[in-house]
Amino acid sequence: MKPIRTFTVRAVVPESLQALEELAANLRWSWHLPVKRLFERIDPALWREVGEDPIALLGDVQPSRLAELAADGSFVADAEAQRDELRRYLGEPRWYQQRDEPGPASIGYFSPEFGIAQALPQYSGGLGILAGDHLKAASDLGLPLIGVGLFYKAGYFAQAISRDGWQLESYPVLDPDGLPLTVLREGETPVEIGLDLPDGRVLKARVWQAAVGRVTLLLLDTDVPENDDDLRAVTDRLYGGGGEHRLLQELLLGVGGIRALAALARVAGTPTPEVYHMNEGHAGFLGLERIRRRLEQGIDWGTALELVRAGTVFTTHTPVPAGIDRFERDLVARYLPTVLPGIPAAQALALGTEPGDTDGTGAFNMAIMGLRLAGHANGVAKLHGQVSRRMFGDLWPGFDPDEVPITSVTNGVHGPSWIDPAMVDLAERSFGSTDTEHVPWGEHNVNGGELWSVKRAMRANLVDDARRRLAASWAEQRPGSIVPDWVLNALDPDVLTVGFARRVPTYKRLTLMLEDPERFERILTDPDRPVQFVIAGKSHPADDAGKHLIQQLVKFTEKPELRGKIVFLPDYDIGMAKVLYPGCDVWLNNPLRPLEACGTSGMKAAMNGALNLSILDGWWAEFSDGENGWAIPSADAAGDGDERDRIEAAALYDLLEHRVAPAFYDRGADGLPGEWLGMVRHTLATLSADLGADRMVAEYTERLYAPAAAQADAVAAADGGAAGELAAWKAKVRAAWPAVHVVHVESAGVAAVPYLGDTLHVGAIVDLGELSPDDVRVEVVSGRTKGGAELTDVSRQELVAAPGDEGQYRYSAEVALERAGRIGYTVRVLPRHALLTSSAELGLVAVAG
Ligand SMILES: *Cc1c(COP(=O)(O)O)cnc(C)c1O
Repeated sequence: MKPIRTFTVRAVVPESLQALEELAANLRWSWHLPVKRLFERIDPALWREVGEDPIALLGDVQPSRLAELAADGSFVADAEAQRDELRRYLGEPRWYQQRDEPGPASIGYFSPEFGIAQALPQYSGGLGILAGDHLKAASDLGLPLIGVGLFYKAGYFAQAISRDGWQLESYPVLDPDGLPLTVLREGETPVEIGLDLPDGRVLKARVWQAAVGRVTLLLLDTDVPENDDDLRAVTDRLYGGGGEHRLLQELLLGVGGIRALAALARVAGTPTPEVYHMNEGHAGFLGLERIRRRLEQGIDWGTALELVRAGTVFTTHTPVPAGIDRFERDLVARYLPTVLPGIPAAQALALGTEPGDTDGTGAFNMAIMGLRLAGHANGVAKLHGQVSRRMFGDLWPGFDPDEVPITSVTNGVHGPSWIDPAMVDLAERSFGSTDTEHVPWGEHNVNGGELWSVKRAMRANLVDDARRRLAASWAEQRPGSIVPDWVLNALDPDVLTVGFARRVPTYKRLTLMLEDPERFERILTDPDRPVQFVIAGKSHPADDAGKHLIQQLVKFTEKPELRGKIVFLPDYDIGMAKVLYPGCDVWLNNPLRPLEACGTSGMKAAMNGALNLSILDGWWAEFSDGENGWAIPSADAAGDGDERDRIEAAALYDLLEHRVAPAFYDRGADGLPGEWLGMVRHTLATLSADLGADRMVAEYTERLYAPAAAQADAVAAADGGAAGELAAWKAKVRAAWPAVHVVHVESAGVAAVPYLGDTLHVGAIVDLGELSPDDVRVEVVSGRTKGGAELTDVSRQELVAAPGDEGQYRYSAEVALERAGRIGYTVRVLPRHALLTSSAELGLVAVAG
């Protein structure tokens, strides 16, 4: 019989073990190994069974065992020492407190998903894991950051595979009382967030708080009795429903999230954020709610927009237009007036209008709105920055892609969460430090034999874990049948192991390895140098194409001659990932370049001494150096997609056969693969620090949060007067711009044959219409050119105005000829204002000719 309801009865923990409760209540345990080991000591088998979840462990452990530990002086002392360490960690000054530069007193970080621990499954993939890692690194660095998201009753979904290889989804319901969450209360009363809906009802939400080290994470949850059933279901699952359901989730995240932050400030006295970070467009409505609050204070739309933009950071995560959230405009129009009362509909809708949509009837685009509401924007790897500048370039017409104000901060991964305990112990033995990201992993510092045996132990651990998962899946598919030996003995702990796990959208090309099945089969079954593959990944429930790919792969793994040499593990999640990355020798990634924004699984694998074998996309395009793995060449010039797949798969097979397998299997007199270990050491030594999430969060702080806070301060000066002035100035410039043009450009002063070091005199007559020279910057842009084509390698120099009249001004400059070769130049006019973050900000430019 199945229960209609479940709830969690918390165990009574003996007085002398109260420290355990305190440790379980803060998710810091999930990245602090001594505390994990403390919980593991309570009952190692149960710890694994409950999926490393302290609260579940304390609930399920035998009371007699707790009594035994309560009487064990050394255990009690260890628990108390860890509790004291946690308190110290929470209170002491850290990196952020020791910076010289001023920074924001609080940052609100909004994300539709957060992957923090296996025990709190509120994520679907890379976006959520990244958000979790961001919070943890922010905590470690001491950033005053508050996370805001939704609490999904069933998380994403649990994946099983049918006997026919088809993905089956189930939605096990989470019990928040059994999770490390507490209800945000004002006094005794739970805080209630409300959104007025067009049908007269109110969507209500309670707010869960999770302690992620020093960071508070707020999760809004509509599953409260005060809501009708359909409204209770708004936060039922992550990326579940379509249009209206998704819109309600995003309104709740953005608008409700701001209201939850205000409630937190009221009840906990924490400062309200000065900077707001949107992790993708899903949280974009937060900007509208912040504008609405300004309008309520009697501030006009333009001024409010400036006040909000200045302190907002937007991060784009997808170079795939299909990956962007778009809503039917009418649907958005229906919700805005009640959810965001007082917001002028036309202006709000215009924010989400795509640049090409001249009559404003197309979809409402959340990323476009995010970019318009954020004064600071970035992609998540250098290449992705470039791609994003092109993809969104239409928002800044007239500017070259490299001038589009979208920078990049390459993602990082939180080492303490992802580095295997065996690596940590190795670092401690070899260097006397558990900081695996910063110890000197170079040639002579770590014994090759020891490194190799740690890699083998991690591989063996993966093999065990995979066998358990395969056996469980077999038993589930065939109730009552006996799990055969080949499943129980799948994989080999001494064989070169390649891992491939990720979500399964088509661009990630799960089945590229099956392009030439015979050749792939030969690689897997090579008698001297066999290669085994461990594969995992979930397809979005609505994506049948992805499910077909999984099915195709699963069928391939079932060929009798390949059994146990290539396996598909169902239900990829954090728990599996933590065993999979360290257990692999090679991490494979073969997306269609440049559609992988960053890709973080390869980073996690590298930190555990795996070598990457990947298309030069995302982070790998930036970090591949020839000695830390292998680059699969992209066949960008191929005639069509099929041909491209064929060429790139052939390159993959070549690398596996001729480079990867020989390096792994060629053993020296000491029995060790010298070349391989050299590459592993090099990977650990050169990548670990750069791939860390602390590097990423420090970069966000220096390059985005601190400037955003400064900008927010600047526009708020004179009680918002500066923002008002900026808004009025922008309106004036926009109105006057059509008349602005370069009338004439003259150059003189260059000898008939110009030489390097000569100067070029550039003069221009510019008509500024209603504007004055103070409003603009006139510049000469020079660079290399081939036969009058686009300028490359450009440099810019400002021209100086002489007094003029009737709106016409004479500008001039002396340009030093610092480069030989074919040089071209042009003159252009840009808006100029001290409070602009970029001269491209308004998307206005007047170019000569
Ligand atoms: C890291 C991680 C991802 C994201 O990996 P990508 O390489 O970015 O696709 C997805 N799921 C889990 C469980 C992860 O740990």
